[in-house]
Amino acid sequence: MSATIIDGKAVAQTLRHRVAQEVAALDRRPGLATILVGEDPASAIYVSNKRKLCVEAGMRDRHRLLSAQVSQAEVEDVIDELNLDPEVDGILLQLPLPKHLDAPSLIERIDPDKDVDGLTETNAGRLALGRPGLRPCTPSGVIQLLDSAAVHLEGAHAVVVGRSDLVGRPQAQLLLARDATVTVCHRHTRDLASHTRDADIVVAAAGVPKLIGAEHIKPGATVIDVGIHRTEGGLCGDVDFDAVAGIAGHITPVPGGVGPMTIATLLRNTLTAANLHNSSHRETRTNGSGPARDGV
Ligand code: ADP
Repeated sequence: MSATIIDGKAVAQTLRHRVAQEVAALDRRPGLATILVGEDPASAIYVSNKRKLCVEAGMRDRHRLLSAQVSQAEVEDVIDELNLDPEVDGILLQLPLPKHLDAPSLIERIDPDKDVDGLTETNAGRLALGRPGLRPCTPSGVIQLLDSAAVHLEGAHAVVVGRSDLVGRPQAQLLLARDATVTVCHRHTRDLASHTRDADIVVAAAGVPKLIGAEHIKPGATVIDVGIHRTEGGLCGDVDFDAVAGIAGHITPVPGGVGPMTIATLLRNTLTAANLHNSSHRETRTNGSGPARDGV
């Protein structure tokens, strides 16, 4: 193996530590609210990890567990209540939701300034236009991993494999914002390897186990694996790690690569949202208008 491994666990730990230090210096503890619908075991584990690390970072943890049969209106009420709660800076609606619920309209109901997953149309629009806003956690985490390994982005050819709302699309926008030349591939792309073989950076987010093999990678390229799959042979990503590690310059492992960065970025986003709310509160107080916020 020749590639340098990008240690997402270590980078995430450093980021979480920095967030905790900044939180400790605030007058008011930032609050993260998580909403879990149903009892899907994987989702339950994700949410409990987010809550645990939120508390570890010194933040307030608010949790709503709703039954799998909950109605659209009931979830809307919970979101409305959290939108108005001055102790809640970030709202995370754990996906996927049961089929009978309209997920896009529920996401859209979250106050964009509390949308710490960066999934509302407002935040997607802000990202597309290069304006400040809350960015989706997984693709932001990928950018931080690239920075941690000092991978040069400006002018580099980055190929994103996948165009989901959660990862591929925002990933392409974030790379573009850093002046990379970006190609987006998806399930209709003809000859995937012809694109990825030309890439300095490949971000694999297709949800297909071991889709990216040695034949897809240029020697020395940086390979970031967003996928995670439970197979009979254990966990694997969208990249065939053993095959690609002999060719790539840098590579992320699965697990221990992108995954830990997603939660660390969620905490960073919650802190960003809290700073936004604190400064808008200060402005409100100085102007002497608008509703006061509790606990500030
Ligand atoms: P994720 O949550 O990891 O982004 P999704 O299932 O939401 O996964 O999206 C998968 C994305 O990957 C889609 O945009 C799809 O077009 C793309 N994709 C799926 N299979 C392939 C493939 N064989 N080659 C290239 N892209 C693919």
